[in-house]
Amino acid sequence: MKYSEEVRPGEKIRLDDYDTSRSCGLTKEEAREKADELGREMGELQELLFAAGDTALLIVLQGRDTSGKDGAIRFILNHTNVQSCRVAPFKVPTAEELSHDFLWRVHRQTPPKGGVTIFNRSHYEDVLVVRVAGLAPEKVWSKRYGQINAFEELLSASGTVVLKFFLNISKKEQEERLLDREKDPVKAWKLSVDDWKGRDQWDDFTRAYEDALTRCSTEAAPWRIIAADRKWFRDLAIAECIVETLRPMKKAWMESLESLGREQKAELEAFRASRGA
Ligand code: ADP
Repeated sequence: MKYSEEVRPGEKIRLDDYDTSRSCGLTKEEAREKADELGREMGELQELLFAAGDTALLIVLQGRDTSGKDGAIRFILNHTNVQSCRVAPFKVPTAEELSHDFLWRVHRQTPPKGGVTIFNRSHYEDVLVVRVAGLAPEKVWSKRYGQINAFEELLSASGTVVLKFFLNISKKEQEERLLDREKDPVKAWKLSVDDWKGRDQWDDFTRAYEDALTRCSTEAAPWRIIAADRKWFRDLAIAECIVETLRPMKKAWMESLESLGREQKAELEAFRASRGA
């Protein structure tokens, strides 16, 4: 079952066509159980990815405010080895970052072989908030779709698997989550006037997201749309996609680790023999 919806290269996306509260007939308990099972497999696959050291995994999380990026990160980190998994958040660029091209700060955060990096927001902000808030002229941001595709193609050709998730929530669900934050003293620190201002630009962000999803879904790095109104379904859809992407690599990783193991063992035996043990 495919719980996430992959955007095919060339496919024109209209977000109205996507159900934000999709759950494929699963109850919360069923989804949590499946997600935990997939989470365990994800952890095992990540250990192999780390040990084999020939592949990197970049997970890009984008979504409107309150769409659950932090929750999705918590889920992934709960099931992975934090020694080889890191999170890179992208906030309003600093003066230094702005004095470089928009990919400068992004490229230096990409994962090394054997590593996993989760982008909490990403280079896509440069065709989303930058476009909607008018932070750069159209002639600048409109070239970025092609530049992003070339960048992701470079990463992919260099051994990085790029998985991009758009967490898709409804305007209603966002309102409920923002109001919940006000009621919950533990979450109130997240409150921001900008979140409510962003709601006035909901439609502009929709157009910007549709263009990013449409124009930056390539063979190397397609977008996956995640129905995110239900947190438990969001986690399941992300876990499934990560596992299904890594699983086909497992055999080759095991083979390379077994052969490495044989070499190490032979070296150890030769060492022991040389000492006459
Ligand atoms: P989050 O909302 O991700 O939890 P913050 O509240 O710190 O974290 O928000 C980060 C802010 O940085 C967002 O409003 C986002 O739009 C903004 N941002 C990220 N990248 C850029 C960029 N390239 N240009 C302008 N603003 C950006």
